Amino acid sequence: MNNQKTHAVTLIPGDGIGPEVTGAVIRILEATGLKFAWERYAAGAEAFEKFKTYIPNDLYESVERTRVALKGPVTTPVGGGFASINVTLRKKFDLYANFRPIKNLPGIKTNYPGVDLIIIRENTEGLYVGLEQEIVPGVATALKVVTEKGSTRIARFAFDYARKHGRKKIHCIHKANIMKLTDGLILRCTRKIAEEYPEVAYGEHIVDNTCMQLVTNPYQYDMLLLENLYGDIVSDLCSAFVGGLGLVPGANLGEHAAIFEAVHGSAPDIAGKDIANPTALLQSAILMLRHLDEDQAADRVHAALEKVYTEQKTLTRDVGGNASTNAFADAVIAALEIAG
Ligand code: NAD
Repeated sequence: MNNQKTHAVTLIPGDGIGPEVTGAVIRILEATGLKFAWERYAAGAEAFEKFKTYIPNDLYESVERTRVALKGPVTTPVGGGFASINVTLRKKFDLYANFRPIKNLPGIKTNYPGVDLIIIRENTEGLYVGLEQEIVPGVATALKVVTEKGSTRIARFAFDYARKHGRKKIHCIHKANIMKLTDGLILRCTRKIAEEYPEVAYGEHIVDNTCMQLVTNPYQYDMLLLENLYGDIVSDLCSAFVGGLGLVPGANLGEHAAIFEAVHGSAPDIAGKDIANPTALLQSAILMLRHLDEDQAADRVHAALEKVYTEQKTLTRDVGGNASTNAFADAVIAALEIAG
């Protein structure tokens, strides 16, 4: 393993539990024997304190260079303050596809065993374009922006993924009964792309009905394709099928860069206590390894993670154990060494 490539990766540890979960994940990744050159940057309130900017220019330059980042959660003020770091990064690097696989881990008891869902969320358009204004005091508006280009490329991404990975069915989730022009455009673009992939079944469901259908019977779905806001909400709902936000991974993918991050937030209620679960970020890091063409290492880490969950001896509190973040990481590393 001595002559192997060093992967340059931009690292944004984030705040709250971010530094704890990223620290654990880095230890596990380095235990695979792969070489990484981590380019570490602060973002959000921490960056502002030091550099008077929420996203330092050096961070942007690093992502432009490495084209891949691993990111912990960053606290975003509610109802004021600075714009979400995530939304800003997604816009800046045009990371138009948010990819969230939802699959059970062994040993985690949920009401929904055997779930295997892929959620593809459009990441750059819709109500998240950030065009809000207060027209007069007491009246505020937000602009929902949908483009043919944006709707077509995310549909293409979803169907290409289905073709490449042998997935059977895609449902486009919408509210075109009410949002006739915006969601109507999404449906028209998606139907056009669907015609080019006859081997992938295509369906359409209205988003409110979808929430009810998901909770009743998630197994009827294989892949969900959603615009930005519906995707944000529905993907968190789906994380509950497999044990919640502490477990599921996420990736933000574009043509020129990719940012891998956990779906959960900075969890200020448990920050600094060494009890956060690093599984979500670790699963995101496994996606990152695959993106870096390190499938063998990804398989090894995944097998080690599954072993620790199967044994149930060293799990964090959110999943019914009493191990610390670091003890959990040690257990995954030990399982990795045995597996490797
Ligand atoms: P949260 O995900 O931080 O916490 C929700 C609940 O889940 C809390 O009880 C928390 O303790 C628990 N939890 C979350 N992650 C966990 C983990 N890894 N291990 C164990 N328990 C975990 O959601 P929130 O409280 O709504 O948000 C807190 C802050 O995070 C807000 O400022 C929000 O804007 C920000 N946020 C950031 C991101 C991101 O950077 N990707 C995503 C979502 C929220």
